[in-house]
Amino acid sequence: MTITWADRLINIRKAFGRDPTYSELLDMAQIHEMTPAEIKAQRASFVRGMTARCEHGELDFEQCPKCRER
Ligand SMILES: [Zn+2]
Repeated sequence: MTITWADRLINIRKAFGRDPTYSELLDMAQIHEMTPAEIKAQRASFVRGMTARCEHGELDFEQCPKCRER
């Protein structure tokens, strides 16, 4: 059974009776295997970032002369 990141946070709060510290979160992140849903969500946000238009309205920064000037 795969455990989502949200479930891990809930579990660790129950186990510790407090919020995890920053270093505990890092340890958790290292052992955390992303669920298919999480992978999908991350991919979607990556694609959104890659396909966001620049401030001049060009889809690809490489294709925008104003962006290339900088
Ligand atoms: Zn631009």
